[in-house]
Amino acid sequence: MRKHIVAGNWKMNNDLAETETLLSDLKKQSKTSNAEVMISPAFTNLWHAFQSTREDDIEVIAQNMHFAENGAYTGEVSASMLKSIGVKTVILGHSERRAYYNETDASLAKKVDAALANELRVIFCFGEELKDRKAGDQEKIVASQIKNALFHLDAAAFKNIVLAYEPVWAIGTGETASPEQAQDMHAFIRKTLDGKYGVNVANTMSILYGGSVKPANAREIFSKPDVDGGLIGGASLKAEDFYAIVNAF
Ligand code: PGA
Repeated sequence: MRKHIVAGNWKMNNDLAETETLLSDLKKQSKTSNAEVMISPAFTNLWHAFQSTREDDIEVIAQNMHFAENGAYTGEVSASMLKSIGVKTVILGHSERRAYYNETDASLAKKVDAALANELRVIFCFGEELKDRKAGDQEKIVASQIKNALFHLDAAAFKNIVLAYEPVWAIGTGETASPEQAQDMHAFIRKTLDGKYGVNVANTMSILYGGSVKPANAREIFSKPDVDGGLIGGASLKAEDFYAIVNAF
């Protein structure tokens, strides 16, 4: 049985007061599914969110980190800093980081290594752009993103990795991959893992879908056999919508 996970990607939204409001709204919701619930406030609000949810069934996770342990990297945050405030999971490789901050498969491989060395769990994001899908290259692109950033790891490391397939053309656009498109890609990802690491890693890996998931489409997407949860952007900023998605399993 694979873990079901619904993670909110808050991106660069919510100052401290707005974070407090959303946290209190989230606490009023109730979970009726078996999904693990995660939220990712901005760095400035992580400690507050972590303290505030100590008693709740909500994990506070980070949106990014640097690959270096410490040093002269002005403006950056390290894995050990995250770990020191109780963060256990970090999102890496989001398409916005790749597009706006030049993150590459090679730099992401180093970030993955740094996170795992600090015993953080990684939600590793990847996905093709619209031009790739139009050219029929989506599987080629996704396979290369996974191989280049993760295939230097040994099989045991995958216990601490969650994959998030996020087609770039579906993020924040209102356009969702169809449940069939998501299922086809997730099955392909599992086959790719099987080819390198065997059926055990492939079958135990949680693979999330991200890109315009909302209450109206979550149930159908989550009903697909290889979709184990979602990484939710816009709809994670409203507590009711987010829990409608959490409870869509
Ligand atoms: P979206 O974002 O749900 O707003 O499309 C998803 C993501 O970027 O993780």
